[in-house]
Amino acid sequence: MPDPDKVPDGWETPQNILVVLAHPDDPEFFCGATTARWVRAGHHVSYCVVTCGDKGTKDLSIGPDKLCSIRQKEQRSAAKILGVDDIKFLNYPDGYLTPDINLRRDITRVIRTIRPDILVTCDPQTLFTANAGLNHPDHRAAGQATLDAVFPAARDHLNFIELWKDEKLGPHIVREVWVCGTLEPDIILDVTETWEIKIQALFEHTSQIGDPEKLAERMRNRRTADSTPEKPHYEEKFRRLILG
Ligand SMILES: [Zn+2]
Repeated sequence: MPDPDKVPDGWETPQNILVVLAHPDDPEFFCGATTARWVRAGHHVSYCVVTCGDKGTKDLSIGPDKLCSIRQKEQRSAAKILGVDDIKFLNYPDGYLTPDINLRRDITRVIRTIRPDILVTCDPQTLFTANAGLNHPDHRAAGQATLDAVFPAARDHLNFIELWKDEKLGPHIVREVWVCGTLEPDIILDVTETWEIKIQALFEHTSQIGDPEKLAERMRNRRTADSTPEKPHYEEKFRRLILG
C-alpha cells in the first residue's frame, strides 16, 4: 500500500479543486475530511452535485420535490462546515442517472466554468464496495460521465462546440483527477486532524443519517488498525491520475 507519510497534496500554490459526485451527502461521506484539510491548507474547493437526492427517504409523506429542496439545504449547510460555499446542483433525478452525452455536456460545462486544477470524482468501476456491498448506480454513472468530461470533452474545443461558440467556455485541461470510492487506491491521506469536522458536516444531513450518535460512533470506529484509543488515526484513499 502507498505510504501515508508522503504528502501527495503538497502543492506550492493554492489550488482550485472541484468535487463532482452524485448525491447531496456524497462529498462529505466520500472525501469530507480531505476537503476540510484542503480548505484549511488554503485551497479553494467547489462542489458539483449531479442529482437532487430526491429518492433518499423511507418517509411516505415526503415527495421528491420537497426532498430535493431539503437535501440541497442540508448539502449547503454541510459544505459550509467544511469551508465550501460554491455548489452547483445539476438537478438530475436521483436513481436514474446514466452516463449519457447530456450528462457529459453538463459536467463539461461546469469544468470549463470552474476551470479546476484538481478534480475529485468517484470510481465508475466500483460495482461491489470494499465492505461487500453494492455501489449505487448513480455513483458509477456520475464517475463515468465526469471522467469522460475531463477527457477529452473539456480539453478539446470541438467537443461540445456549442459551449465554446455560444457560451464562450473555452477548453480546459484538468491537471489531476483524484478518484474516491475506489478499490485501487494509490494515495492515502492522513485526515486525522479533520475527521471530527467531517462528522460535524455529516450531522447536517439530518434526513439521511438516522441517529447522529450512532453515526458518530460508526465514523469514529473507522480508525486505522494501528490506532490506539488515545491516538486514533483516520485516512481517506484515492486513485490519482496526473493528466496535465
Ligand atoms: Zn450517494
